[in-house]
Amino acid sequence: MKTIVIGGVAAGMSAASKLKRTDKDAEIVVYEKGLHLSYGACGLPYFVGGLNNNYKTLIQRTKEDFEKKGIKVHLKHEVVDVIPKENKIKAKNLDTGEVVEDTYDNLMIATGASPVMPPFPGKDLENIFVLNTIEDGLALKEKVMEKSTKEVVVVGGGYIGIEVAEVLSNLGKKVTVVEMAGKILLPFDREISEVAHKKLEENGTTIKVNEKVEEFKGDGKVQKVVTDKGEYDADVVLVSVGIKPNTKFLEESGIQLAKNGEVEIDREMRTNINNIYSGGDCAMVYNMVKEENAYLPLGTNANKCGKIAGENLAAAKIEYKGTLGSAALKVHDLELARTGLSEKEAEDYGYDYKTKIVNVMNKPHYYPGGTKITFKLIYEKDTNRLLGAQGVGEEGVVHRMDVFALAIENRISTDDLGLTDFCYAPPFSSAWDAINVASNAAK
Ligand SMILES: Cc1cc2nc3c(=O)[nH]c(=O)nc-3n(C[C@H](O)[C@H](O)[C@H](O)COP(=O)(O)OP(=O)(O)OC[C@H]3O[C@@H](n4cnc5c(N)ncnc54)[C@H](O)[C@@H]3O)c2cc1C
Repeated sequence: MKTIVIGGVAAGMSAASKLKRTDKDAEIVVYEKGLHLSYGACGLPYFVGGLNNNYKTLIQRTKEDFEKKGIKVHLKHEVVDVIPKENKIKAKNLDTGEVVEDTYDNLMIATGASPVMPPFPGKDLENIFVLNTIEDGLALKEKVMEKSTKEVVVVGGGYIGIEVAEVLSNLGKKVTVVEMAGKILLPFDREISEVAHKKLEENGTTIKVNEKVEEFKGDGKVQKVVTDKGEYDADVVLVSVGIKPNTKFLEESGIQLAKNGEVEIDREMRTNINNIYSGGDCAMVYNMVKEENAYLPLGTNANKCGKIAGENLAAAKIEYKGTLGSAALKVHDLELARTGLSEKEAEDYGYDYKTKIVNVMNKPHYYPGGTKITFKLIYEKDTNRLLGAQGVGEEGVVHRMDVFALAIENRISTDDLGLTDFCYAPPFSSAWDAINVASNAAK
């Protein structure tokens, strides 16, 4: 059986690798339009900010590594058409312009997503960047490392915008974040995101919310960002206002796409066409609390969905139990993490819910170095079943959020979590761990 994989990063190469491990005779051909395979885009903000100066360390495996395992790779080949009736794809060699055809028994679509660039006047001026690929990271880093780059405007206060704002303010740049919504970090509830907002401002970042970018101005190079409320000087602009699935080439294929172009898949990663699978940022993913598909473009999902697709491409019948949208980020000395539903989502999905915000120390008061964690729990009113959790603090937030994720997945109530027997010694936690304390408060 021959499988073609389109897209060679997290979901695509997880699928290809798992398929090869499961069925060593499988013939696998990967088409990737870029120069690199299997790299951690999540490390790009830290590469740009100089915490790591070797982009090659972001790459887990090269074309040669995959070919040694028997997986054939075509780099700089963009798939431009999929013809399911003929089990055929067409790919354009980006060096020569030649279009080649190839046929498959099974197909895996893992083309990810690309940053959205709104049609702002001036968007083509020099020194306006997005951050999605290694090439984007190299270009942005080269520019921000120049001494003459003093002022940076980040358009969009989502995960990537905030990570970049943080690292660049640590480099001594004057950073302004412009966010159209009423707050930054929309996946977090306000009680949590506002702690990060304050921390960014304390560290010198200017944050403008409820403000819309209208135009970029400059003479060849960007010099100003114009919004509906003001103007900001800029040597560099990062536009990070969201992403769109890379699925335009599938529009006429008969493969079912959702509203924003996401590939519709079932929990086995199968599309509406039996021998075509998909997963990662180009596709929907099952959300286990919403009990339906959602769009949650995260590396966690891409890797897991890719692996499951790989097993199913080798004739297994494995279902993904689903995502919780668990995510974390660092903002200076703060850890932020979230899992499950936000309060707004609990409301939108018609849950009869309560919320509880708890401030709790991560260690006993007599042990040095204890710090406060703020948790917000969202739970069902009658059963106390945990639906969502979020937290912010200096230490021990993220690994505790993983425990909340497991509790949500297993439909555990706050009552049970309040008595779970967690490890304890003063250097690490209190006899009643912060998870116990927060859960016991959520009655
Ligand atoms: C700066 C940054 C920070 C991030 N941080 C985090 C984080 O901390 N935690 C987290 O969970 N997630 C994070 N993510 C998200 C995570 O990187 C993605 O969810 C993950 O990379 C998605 O994997 P994927 O394989 O679906 O898509 P991608 O990684 O986008 O790979 C898709 C590949 O398909 C190729 N392709 C597209 N169209 C075609 C075509 N027609 N023909 C051939 N090839 C094609 C593209 O060139 C691309 O290489 C971050 C992303 C970025 C950009």
